[in-house]
Formats: sequence, C-alpha cells, structure tokens
Amino acid sequence: MIEEERVVSSRMRDEDAPLESSLRPRSLADFPGQKAVKEKLAIYIQAARERGEALDHVLLYGPPGLGKTSLAQVIARELGVGFRMTSGPAIERAGDLAALLTNLNDRDVLFIDEIHRLPRPVEEILYPAMEDFALDLIIGKGPAARSLRIDLPRFTLVGATTRAGRLTGPLRDRFGVLLRLEYYQVEELMEIVLRSARLLGIAIDEEGAREVARRARGTPRVANRLLRRLRDFAQVRADGVITAEVARAGLELLEVDECGLDRSDRRLLRTLAQNYGGGPVGLETLAAAIGEEAETIEDVYEPYLMQMGFLQRTPRGRVLGRRAYEHLGLPVPPWLEEGGGRDRNGAAAGAEQQRLL
Ligand code: ADP
Repeated sequence: MIEEERVVSSRMRDEDAPLESSLRPRSLADFPGQKAVKEKLAIYIQAARERGEALDHVLLYGPPGLGKTSLAQVIARELGVGFRMTSGPAIERAGDLAALLTNLNDRDVLFIDEIHRLPRPVEEILYPAMEDFALDLIIGKGPAARSLRIDLPRFTLVGATTRAGRLTGPLRDRFGVLLRLEYYQVEELMEIVLRSARLLGIAIDEEGAREVARRARGTPRVANRLLRRLRDFAQVRADGVITAEVARAGLELLEVDECGLDRSDRRLLRTLAQNYGGGPVGLETLAAAIGEEAETIEDVYEPYLMQMGFLQRTPRGRVLGRRAYEHLGLPVPPWLEEGGGRDRNGAAAGAEQQRLL
C-alpha cells in the first residue's frame, strides 16, 4: 500500500481539502490541545497587540497534521491582521517572494508552509526581509547593475516545518519564537472529534469518539478523516450513529488496529523484524524493502512509531522496540527482555531517539 492510499496518513490529501478549512479552529480558545504552545502564544500576541507592533517571527514545527497551518491562521486572527499563505516549494524565484512581501500590509502574517523547502536564492532574500524589513534587489546586469533597497511593512513570518533541524542555521536564527507541536492526548482528540462531528452534523456518542481518538495516532487530521469514513460505515451498516461498537467494526474494516497502525505500518515493522533481525537497518534499505520513499518514512511513519516505542532511531540505523514484537505477536528477542532497557548495540534506548530535531 502506498502512502497516498493510507487512511491513517498524517499528510494532507485531496479528499481532506474541502472539509479541512471548515474544521479549522478560529481562535486559541476554540483550539483543543497544545496547551504549552497556546499559553506562550497568548502572551506574545497580547504583548504585540498592546504595543501595536508586529509579532516576532514564529517557527512552528512537528509532524504533519497537528495543526501548524490552523495555528498560523489563528495567530493572524488573534492579532487582528491579514493572513497570506504560501509554501516553500511554491516560491520558485526570488521575484515571487519579493512580490508577496511588497504586497503585505503593516503587521500582516505571512505563512510559509514547508519552509525548509525554500530554494536557496529565495531564502537569501528572506534574511534582510525578516531582520530589517527590507528587500535588497539587484537591478540590471553586468557593469550597469546597481542594488536597490526597498523598505517593507513590518510583518510576521510564520514558518512551518516537520523538523526544525532541516532548516539552515541562518534561517532558524531569524525566528524569535520556536514552538514545537506535540502529539495530542486521547482526551484532546476526543474533544476534536466531538467538535468536528458537531460541525459536520455527524452523530457520534462519547465512547465512539474515544475509540476514534485512540486510533488516530495523536493527529487531528487523522481523527477527522477516520470520522468521515466512519460516518459512511455507520450510515450503511448501522443506524447512523457512531458508537464504540460501530467505530470498532468500521476501523477493523479499514484495517486500522487498536494502536492506530495500518497494514503499511505493520508491514514496515514486520519487515524489520523478519528480514533484518530487528535492525539496525539503514533508512534507505528499509525504504527500498517496503517500496516507500525514505522521506515519507521519516516524516510520516516514524515519528508516531517512535512515540509509541515501536521503533528507535540509532546512529547505526532503525531498531525495533520491544512493543513492536509484542504488538505483532512475535517472540521478543533476549536483548529486549523486560528490565534490559538497552538496544542490541548496548546503547541506552530512550528519549534521545524520540527527539524530532
Ligand atoms: P499541519 O499544518 O500541521 O499539517 P493543519 O493545521 O493543516 O495541520 O491541520 C490538519 C487538520 O486537522 C485541519 O483540518 C484542522 O481542522 C485539524 N486540526 C488540527 N489541529 C486541530 C485542533 N487543535 N483542533 C481541531 N482541529 C484541528
């Protein structure tokens, strides 16, 4: 199964587009979860408003589908300023960015998704824009060329990336505020599921919502997608209401297990266990073995599998965790037995591998 077909993929897909915008929270108060991030933002936003200044540039990072785009829109709304949105790969030439920047109004928010994918010449235009609110343009060619400095309005750049470590140092340093979005707790996802169901007019009870939340990989985008699929299932196979029982039966049909893993996740884990003795195995090798892009494995599969203790990233490659063997019903190898707490290289397995940076 390729990434694009997965019901539990955290990446945005075409089927999500029409509803995503209607489901986006409109204010910080209406935004469930991400308590630490919201608390900080609320203070910075209030301070900037009171001083009548633009908010410092903000970098939002974390796995796809956790609400970076939604939060960027909320920031603009809470500031009471305009919002412009683009993405790293969409800005091909320096001139495209210059046009965007010169069209901003004072204090506007410019949101650049996938900011780590900005072409280098474009990124260089961004440095003086972020730092001095100015554009340095070269007019003409050869000996007749001269440079021209254009003042820009004071704006707030909100950048989003799946990993802050992918940004170049100079770009990262120009963000005053760096905020990492975390996976959502089940209770928070329940709140999101119930909220989306209310907005879409879908009948679901509390326990149904809990079942969806438990299997949504800590990710609102996945929760919303599962909810839509279950609506169809409930309509055709039950009396239209998503109860826990209906949710379980529907998710079984979608092959999403009680941990939120689908066939592709299980295949990745099983390949690691059975073809590579549990690792360590290099990312590229693993990617080739399951026919998936290395970047997709890193961005979409792994963060959640690591969070769950199914997989670890080590300097020598990917290593299967004890929970993965238990989940797949395979015998746990001796070096992972209870109380060991060490991976097969003897290195302590732990927090370090879970870091997304
Ligand atoms: P990202 O930019 O991180 O990929 P998005 O902001 O596009 O994520 O969010 C993906 C989907 O999940 C959107 O439809 C949005 O409505 C929903 N969503 C994200 N975060 C929340 C949240 N805290 N509460 C409710 N819905 C959310």
